[in-house]
Amino acid sequence: MNENKNILQDSHGRDHAYLRISLIERCNLRCSYCMPEEGVQLSPKSHLMTYEEIYEIAKTFVKHGVTKIRLTGGEPLIRKDIPVILEKLATLPVELSITSNAIIIDSFIDVLKANKVNKINVSLDSLDREKFKHITRRDQFEKVYSNIFLLIKEGFNVKVNAVLIKGFNDNEIIDFINFTKDLPISVRFIEFMPFDGNKWDMSKMVSYKDVMTYVNTSFTEDHIERLQDAPNDTSKNYKIKGYKGSFAIISSVTNPFCDSCNRLRLTANGQLKNCLFSATESDLLTTLRQGNPIEPIIQKAVQAKFKIRGGMDTLEKLQEPKLHNNNRSMITIGG
Ligand code: SAM
Ligand code: SF4
Repeated sequence: MNENKNILQDSHGRDHAYLRISLIERCNLRCSYCMPEEGVQLSPKSHLMTYEEIYEIAKTFVKHGVTKIRLTGGEPLIRKDIPVILEKLATLPVELSITSNAIIIDSFIDVLKANKVNKINVSLDSLDREKFKHITRRDQFEKVYSNIFLLIKEGFNVKVNAVLIKGFNDNEIIDFINFTKDLPISVRFIEFMPFDGNKWDMSKMVSYKDVMTYVNTSFTEDHIERLQDAPNDTSKNYKIKGYKGSFAIISSVTNPFCDSCNRLRLTANGQLKNCLFSATESDLLTTLRQGNPIEPIIQKAVQAKFKIRGGMDTLEKLQEPKLHNNNRSMITIGG
């Protein structure tokens, strides 16, 4: 391994400037595509990163080129020390953002503003209360819905993430797009991805192509505008002309964006995952606790990154349960 090399550059020439940190494995919802019905084996509290450890690890990544940090989980806002975590991370020269189900985000408006967190991704898979209750196994639709409006009113940059599942919410694609008519938000349709225990199969997935079929059936070609995607963007962005907001499709399954991937993930128990689909992890927390430098572990993990989807480079491999069940459930990875 070349000692002088940028440790966040992998063997395919990709630089990793974006770190997603999961703060917690628990959640106040139970989305069926994320959390298996029987629950997940939680790490003992002593195995989870403290806020000081999160800060130390983040600082090392920033020193080596990370410029963006997104906090996720589980539900990051149910972690008791979230205000301190935000305060510490806000001292680093990074763009700090958060992904949340927004149920309790109304209590954090001031904390988020004080720590310059402007970009907020909110998960909402249905605009129908009963369907929301079904998919999340909790009756919290009103809270999430009203908090989206609150976030917009408070000037946050809001993206709404909807995981599409065939026969469940694909009939709401156009309702979601119409939700962007008067609201300056981006609705992002996410292809349902396979993770341990989420009963994924290809037939339940609504693909990028399927979404565009709905769009092309409901709007004429001259009303649909393809927007310029940002560098390293995971989504293909569109808008309906005249609408305040936009929509996008995140096609990790049918059209992966691995070529320009710049992301790394740190789980709540301090394991580095070089890809969402990676079956292997590198233990940064134990090394940090032993007082040893974490850079060599980071470099080795980044070097080992597969070119495409954690090595599942074909759709056939992705459909192989032995391969995709060899990962964690999404709730303990951090999406
Ligand atoms: N609790 C927060 C939330 O729901 O926004 C943050 C954590 S959640 C794991 C992060 C994102 O992962 C959410 O947008 C969720 O929809 C997405 N996600 C979870 N499981 C998924 C799956 N199987 N396929 C696609 N996206 C998934
Ligand atoms: Fe919780 Fe987010 Fe997973 Fe839903 S998607 S169970 S809100 S972590």
